[in-house]
Amino acid sequence: MLLTYALLGHMRRSVRLAPDRLRALQERRLRALVRHAYEEVPYYRRLMDAAGVGPDDVRTADDLPRLPFTTKDLLRRTPLADLLARGVTPGRCAVLESSGSSGTPLRVYKRPREERFRRAVGLRILLEHGFRWRNRSAQFQQRAGPAVWLQRLGLGRKHWISTSLGVETQVRLLAAARAQVVIGPPTALRAVARAADAAGLTLAPARIVVAAGELLDPATRALVRRVLAADPVAVYGTTEMGYLAWQCERRAGLHVSADTHLIELLRGETPAPAGTLGEIVVTDLVARAMPLVRYRTGDLAVAPLAQCPCGRSLPLLVAHGGRLAGTLQLPGGRLVTAADVVGALDGMCRLGTFVVVQDVLDAVRLELLPAPDGPDEPAAARALAALGQLVAPLRVAATRAGTMPGAGTGKTPIVLSRLPAPF
Ligand SMILES: [Zn+2]
Repeated sequence: MLLTYALLGHMRRSVRLAPDRLRALQERRLRALVRHAYEEVPYYRRLMDAAGVGPDDVRTADDLPRLPFTTKDLLRRTPLADLLARGVTPGRCAVLESSGSSGTPLRVYKRPREERFRRAVGLRILLEHGFRWRNRSAQFQQRAGPAVWLQRLGLGRKHWISTSLGVETQVRLLAAARAQVVIGPPTALRAVARAADAAGLTLAPARIVVAAGELLDPATRALVRRVLAADPVAVYGTTEMGYLAWQCERRAGLHVSADTHLIELLRGETPAPAGTLGEIVVTDLVARAMPLVRYRTGDLAVAPLAQCPCGRSLPLLVAHGGRLAGTLQLPGGRLVTAADVVGALDGMCRLGTFVVVQDVLDAVRLELLPAPDGPDEPAAARALAALGQLVAPLRVAATRAGTMPGAGTGKTPIVLSRLPAPF
């Protein structure tokens, strides 16, 4: 516990490090990571040898492009023994399993020291938002997570609420928890807020609400703010990587945990120009048991145009644009993200009652649940017209379907593209 506490103190100071000191810290960690990955992990040695690059070739963040990429698919196809550092016993590691929504899950192994880092990265976000150690919290997740040192001490009691329970049960558990901190994916927060609202139930006001794991749309933000009395903090993270970018009180963009994660925004292999969408490629600077170097997430963000006025020096991602596979492709390389679609259909279709599907280059399809769950005919016609404007010159058509593709994953599908990734 003291170790985590000391680590947190150090990490909180990093939030306001001068840019040159932050860069020096990143590069020191990068050099150590790359050397470790090359010398201890067969997978990276093979990858780097094939690319003709050794640990001495990576001195600064500018050398990062010399390193090969890694992907979830590559990792899944590689035997575990090749992914783990020499001497790591899987049975002594914490195992994190990414959601299987896009195929077989990926398992990531962490030794205790790395687990401390991962938890500290998450706790730092809460502390930056005024978290106090005695705050009760509730977290929505498909499966309950472990009790950690805080809770073993009886501090900061945490209630896990399974999103596989009926929504009325989830509301009841949340009300009983009287949670001051509420954490969950926007889909779960939205469902619970809607149900509490419909039942005329007043929930104890939260001090901090964290919305993580998918796009937080403005309507969900407003609903959660009204029902839980706290404006949600959007957080970007993955199971493999932890929570690595988060909104501050300005809600202007997401601050990257740049002391623990190096983020590149790329179109293919080249950096996305500032202000344009790029794929988030992450190098986890503190992972050692199973390093993740230049890991292509398939998630989109916009490269920052400005610094945040809050005074924190951690760099910003301007927006969280959803997934690469959840993006519509228009002629001339123009992309329409899930956030654009949500904005265009605002007030016509509720999230979860529609999906926009692109199977071919010149057309998209608006799939709607039948009324009364889905929109009635006039609203559907307005939504189709709005979508047509958004994706012009693509053809648009609407269909009704009993279930939405991708339903039941705990996330709300908005756009599904079956085209090859645009970059
Ligand atoms: Zn800020």
